[in-house]
Amino acid sequence: MWKFNLPTEIIFGNGEAAKLEETASALGCRKAIVTDHFLAGLPAIKSIIDKIENKVIFSEVQPNPTVANVDSLAKLLKEEKVEVIIAIGGGSSIDCAKAASCLAMTQEKSIRAFHSEGKKFGSERIPLIAVPTTAGTGSEVTPFSVLDDTEKNIKGPIAADAFYPAIAVIDPELAYSAPLKVTAATALDALSHAIEGYWSKNHQPICDMLAMEAGKNIFRHLENVLENPENKEGRNALSYAALIAGMAFQLPKNAIMHACSFPLSNRFHMPHGVACAFTMEESIKLNAPYMDGRMEAFASCCGFDSLDGMIAEITRLKKSAGLPCRIQDAGIKPEDVELLINESFHPLMNNNPKEVTKDDLWNIYTALGA
Ligand code: NAD
Repeated sequence: MWKFNLPTEIIFGNGEAAKLEETASALGCRKAIVTDHFLAGLPAIKSIIDKIENKVIFSEVQPNPTVANVDSLAKLLKEEKVEVIIAIGGGSSIDCAKAASCLAMTQEKSIRAFHSEGKKFGSERIPLIAVPTTAGTGSEVTPFSVLDDTEKNIKGPIAADAFYPAIAVIDPELAYSAPLKVTAATALDALSHAIEGYWSKNHQPICDMLAMEAGKNIFRHLENVLENPENKEGRNALSYAALIAGMAFQLPKNAIMHACSFPLSNRFHMPHGVACAFTMEESIKLNAPYMDGRMEAFASCCGFDSLDGMIAEITRLKKSAGLPCRIQDAGIKPEDVELLINESFHPLMNNNPKEVTKDDLWNIYTALGA
């Protein structure tokens, strides 16, 4: 038995972000734009924001958005009586907007009540239009918001059905300006979603199909885009892959790579996609024997003669983009590894096809240079 559901309307196409005023006005008059400082000053994004009327702009979102970011945004949404939110940015801006869109409908002053103190959101939220500027997180179609509580030192996701954006506008041209390392890291984040949705204990046929299609597109096009960032066909394919990889994991949910990524981001400030990709090859080697040949089928669908060929290609892509492959490249000392392992047992680990032990994680980090 399986179910598939996605309440988000999807609009995909070059130039679609220029029509946001019309799209947003159908949902409400008073608008909030949520983005980060850098993007707010980028001419291509600024010209999109300039076309939107009756708006307030919140551009304080930090990479790996914080509890404080969400709390300030929710306060602004209430004060300004915002009716529709437009998040323009990477996963950080979209996640911050999702959490604030629900918090602003409650009497709580801080998202901490929902992030680490056990409260659950109901269905009330300010409608959100998600406009990704990276091709990676798939946050535009997921019910998750990943937040960093810097005071409590907890980075982790909140899940709520009300977090699904009302509309996702994917305009691949917005990602053209992403630096090479961001492009590579976000594409590998999307690949990690495809693989984790595919091997999650809760995997199901529609998500499997989306995962394989996402993997195929990433392996076929990432290198071309890294060589030529304005490669239109390649950029379209990566944005499409990130979108459908988001659809592939939003129900089955992630597993080992994401569980391991949280302390890597928390303790060693790795960007999210880099942290997910860090344990990718070793996680594949760990899980494949427990998947009845399904991982070999995934590799074959992605155009590889063998699973080893796919694993070698992941390492090659990481090296060519300058992403860390060994603990030494990431500033992690062998004596830090025990802490990393102890902090990796997030509930997402329970979705993994192979039950993960501390010894498994020691073997992974030993292979990575510990
Ligand atoms: P990001 O939003 O943190 O952005 C990274 C950097 O890239 C920022 O400095 C930003 O200004 C810059 N940037 C973004 N788009 C750009 C562009 N087009 N041109 C130039 N610079 C650009 O990065 P991200 O990887 O998209 O998002 C990461 C966050 O998303 C993490 O917090 C992660 O945990 C979260 N995430 C959420 C989900 C979900 O389902 N909600 C899934 C995966 C990851």
